[in-house]
Amino acid sequence: MSRYWSDFVHNLQPYVPGEQPKMANLVKLNTNENPYGPSPKVLEAIQLGVSDRLRLYPDPGSQELKQSIADYYKVNTANVFIGNGSDEVLGHIFHALFQHEPPLLFPDITYSFYPVYCQLYKIDYQTIPLTTDFQIDINDYLRDNGGIIFPNPNAPTGCLLGLDEIEKLLQENTDSVVVIDEAYVDFGGESAIPLTQKYPNLLVTQTLSKSRSLAGMRIGFAIGHSDLIEALVRIKDSFNSYPLDSLAQAAGVAAIRDRVYFKKTCDLVIESRDELVKGLEELGFEVLPSATNFVFTRHPDYDAAELAAGLRKDGVIVRHFQKRRIDQFLRITIGTPAENQLLLSLLDTLV
Ligand SMILES: *Cc1c(COP(=O)(O)O)cnc(C)c1O
Repeated sequence: MSRYWSDFVHNLQPYVPGEQPKMANLVKLNTNENPYGPSPKVLEAIQLGVSDRLRLYPDPGSQELKQSIADYYKVNTANVFIGNGSDEVLGHIFHALFQHEPPLLFPDITYSFYPVYCQLYKIDYQTIPLTTDFQIDINDYLRDNGGIIFPNPNAPTGCLLGLDEIEKLLQENTDSVVVIDEAYVDFGGESAIPLTQKYPNLLVTQTLSKSRSLAGMRIGFAIGHSDLIEALVRIKDSFNSYPLDSLAQAAGVAAIRDRVYFKKTCDLVIESRDELVKGLEELGFEVLPSATNFVFTRHPDYDAAELAAGLRKDGVIVRHFQKRRIDQFLRITIGTPAENQLLLSLLDTLV
């Protein structure tokens, strides 16, 4: 706090990310990082980039990365926007496309960064409650709005909405931008990217942080109609022309191109998820159906905050949200088979 701050900064309530503890040996199941490292080809590309060429500015448009993403998703480079993590891409989207008169709509239980961007960019919003079984019902979104955003699969529930539902929403909602945040889609969902060819108001965001094991490099992107992309470029070039450094660009290209490694690690995570769900259910936990690299789970007889504290004492951290409707849930990232086993055996002593 300082008298040099504006009233606006005094009142800002920033997003609080999951803990990144300094302590070694902690089993981190709290921020949905991939338990497997990035592709060896990514590490090679980064090493190649470590040279005296670092004195040069990187390509401001991340052209080669844009091309590799365009090739992968069979769109044009004019349909791709790249940012420093999808959080930055989302920030630019709120700034560029959601400052309208009617309120922005998003679920009551969802990614907790959305209300923070609304505060930062002074966007009026209305939250739409998930159904009693924690699903998104698109009929609840068919009302006047200045934009719609939700993750699919949703976070932190992990629940997936079918593409047919998303298309139904797009058929009805043509006057505002619809953003589908696909941070977890590679772990069991179907991407809405092909629908961007048909619906000029659809923008899909993805990240290389989760399914491509590159949270430390900060790479995210959006795909949609070139008019929407141009709005994002205008914001980017009014803020920071070089959001991705040259090492991140090289890493991103290698990650997108190594399809074999990508598929192998996604399959491993999905396999472990099925095992973990089985183990949790044997201990009496209820687990929401997950299409992500985490599970959202509660025990009918034990307090979630106490379970999280108990796990932490033994060196395992999971995420607990002090929020209405979900304060009895734990969000647990899928780890390696050994980490998942450790988690289950610790839970077995707690319940
Ligand atoms: C992790 C996550 C992001 C942000 O990803 P970064 O690319 O690491 O910034 C965005 N949306 C949701 C729903 C996420 O879980």
